[in-house]
Amino acid sequence: MSPDGTPAVVPLHAVGDDERMRTRHEEPMPVPRAAPIDRAGVRAVHPVVDRERARAAVADLLEALGQDVDSPHLADTPRRAADAFIELLTPEPFRATTFPNDEGYEDLVVVAGIPFHSLCEHHLLPFRGVAHVGYLPGDRLVGLSKLARVVEQVSRALQVQERMTQQIAEWIERELAPRGAGVLLEAEHLCMSLRGPRIVGSVTTTRSLTGLIRDDPRMRREFESRCGTRGTERVS
Ligand code: ZN
Repeated sequence: MSPDGTPAVVPLHAVGDDERMRTRHEEPMPVPRAAPIDRAGVRAVHPVVDRERARAAVADLLEALGQDVDSPHLADTPRRAADAFIELLTPEPFRATTFPNDEGYEDLVVVAGIPFHSLCEHHLLPFRGVAHVGYLPGDRLVGLSKLARVVEQVSRALQVQERMTQQIAEWIERELAPRGAGVLLEAEHLCMSLRGPRIVGSVTTTRSLTGLIRDDPRMRREFESRCGTRGTERVS
């Protein structure tokens, strides 16, 4: 058990399904540079929210789409939609609690199957799935719940899955200076399944590996096996 009371290793989460089709996003997506986040895990540039303007903009959008904004059914929709976007784009600040690895724990720490959802920055439609996050400890450990909080933190933004994956790995590197970090995300993008190619159920996988988890094949296999997946296509 870790000091925050959660088990040291979460049981494997079987998300890898041989039958599931794995595809890439249909659009050309250069891997963007990760946006900076500060030591507390909060993006350095916080969104400035103007709720009233957002509400008016949703009303304009509905009107531009030929919808009857005067209908009683839509009376409160602009406010609700604006509030929903604000909630999805506003991360809750948190402090990372790290502590010294006094007992010299050396093996991988993997939290697998962390559910997340985020908003695709190309279509403003959700993508959702699971994140597997691990590290090979050096001098410091982190409360395991914090790994899930980091996933949530970076997901509350307009995102692409590639950048999100990198941001989580960069956070682990910065906060823990581990001997290696591994992040693997599997998600379904509604912009692919509801529109465009309408590929329902396809899963996009991304991963970011650093240090020994990237460079040592045995360690890399161990990480992927604990994630419960067969590995992925994109490495950054
Ligand atoms: Zn999209």
